[in-house]
Formats: sequence, C-alpha cells, structure tokens
Amino acid sequence: MQNAVSAILSASSGPVAIFTDFDGTLVEIASHPDAIIVPDDLPARLRSLYSALDGALAVVTGRTIETIDSFLPAQDFSVTGSHGAERRHDGTSEGPAPHIVSNATAITRHVSDTLAGKDGLFVEPKPTGVAVHYRAAPEKGAMASAALESALEGHPDFHAIAGKMVFEARPLSANKGAALEHLMQVKPFAGRTPVFIGDDVTDEDGFAAAERLGGFGVRIGQPAETSARFALPDIASLFAYFDALIAREPNTAASDFADQRVQESRVR
Ligand SMILES: [Mg+2]
Repeated sequence: MQNAVSAILSASSGPVAIFTDFDGTLVEIASHPDAIIVPDDLPARLRSLYSALDGALAVVTGRTIETIDSFLPAQDFSVTGSHGAERRHDGTSEGPAPHIVSNATAITRHVSDTLAGKDGLFVEPKPTGVAVHYRAAPEKGAMASAALESALEGHPDFHAIAGKMVFEARPLSANKGAALEHLMQVKPFAGRTPVFIGDDVTDEDGFAAAERLGGFGVRIGQPAETSARFALPDIASLFAYFDALIAREPNTAASDFADQRVQESRVR
C-alpha cells in the first residue's frame, strides 16, 4: 500500500490542510463507542502533524467535542463535533443553535422510550441528535431504524443517517462538508489544499467538499462506492501518510514569527 501513500503524497505537493474523522479513521471501531482504544503513539503523532501543518489540522466527527477531548486531551487542533453542529477553532468554541438542541432532546426521548429494555441496542444522546448503535445486536438494525424514523416525524429539519452499525438523527444543516468549507475560510486553513479523511457514509460530504475546493478525499478501509479520490486499506497506512507529511513539511512557524517581527517594526 506504499504506492497509495505515495500517490496521495504526490497529490498533496503544496501546503495541505488535513481534516480527519475520528472513529474508524484515527482509532479502530469498538463494540461500544466508549470502548475504543487510542493508540499509544496517536497523541504525539497528532501534535507533530499539527506543528508540521502550522495548525492546519482539524478533527471532524459525529462525536461531541467533549468526547474528543476525553480521548485526546490537551491537543491544539481544531475540532468540529456533532457532524458540524459545534466547533472549536483557535481557542474559541461555538455551540449549536438552541432550537436544534431542544428538537434533539425531544427526538432522543422518543427513541429512548421506544427502545427501552431492548437488549443489544445502545441509544447515545447527543447535543444535536441521537445515535442508535446496534453493533452488539445486528439483527435489530431494522428495529433501530424504525424507532428513529418514528421519532423524526414532526421534525423536518432533522434526518436519519445510516453509518456502520449505527443509525443517527442529526440536523439537515450540519454536515462534514459544511464543516470543511467553514474552516477553509479562516487561518491557517485558507489557501491550503484540503484533504478530507474518513471511513464512513457521513464522510462523503467531506470528500465532496474537499474536491470542490481543489483538494481531495481519502477513504479508509474496505473498498466502497465513494467520492474520495484515494483509498487506504487501514489506519496504519493513514499514519504512514501522516508521518510522511511530518517528515516533509517544514515547520514554518519560526519564519512566520520573523515576518511578524518585521511587520511590527515597520508599524513602529
Ligand atoms: Mg468514522
């Protein structure tokens, strides 16, 4: 798979901005969302990548920002959580709109009531929606889907998305493509080639947005119909790509600092 990594590196010849999903992309999916294991070397690798990209690194996930912080504490990268409904960039956080939160609460209550006592189904409330995981009971997928569809009646601003062993309700306005487009308007992402990396259906919006803005997508895992231009078979090969970017990209923070000093002295 070195060839695929090389091809992706060739396509990322200029300065790139990395937008990466979390579950199934940076960490292996587990039987329960809380049971994922963060690889020992991931935190340091992400810090190095952040530095090599002069901060143009964002985690874009269906998880909440709080959850990402719990798995990857003390990181400086930008985080767009809940599929784009909440974001933190450059130390500033922006939460979801109140009407989205109240609708999400109503939908979550409906789903929880419908599925109460159903073994193997895990209802995960989110600030802007709800996820029903059926990995532990694959035969109950249809039941999970039906409960969600029923809860969504009367909430036209929400829709249901199917992921890997999960159905999720989320606001129509929040998606990973919009998240990428938002960040690409601000420093240090603006002007770079966007690379969106993910493993699942919800990442397709991100792949398409990256292409629209002159970049590309990278889909991790099993071959699938995708708008990602490249594919990598597993997380290990993605880390090989990250390590190559770290080795290649000069850290220009020092020269930026020098430029700033020059500008400041001119002002004076
Ligand atoms: Mg994923």
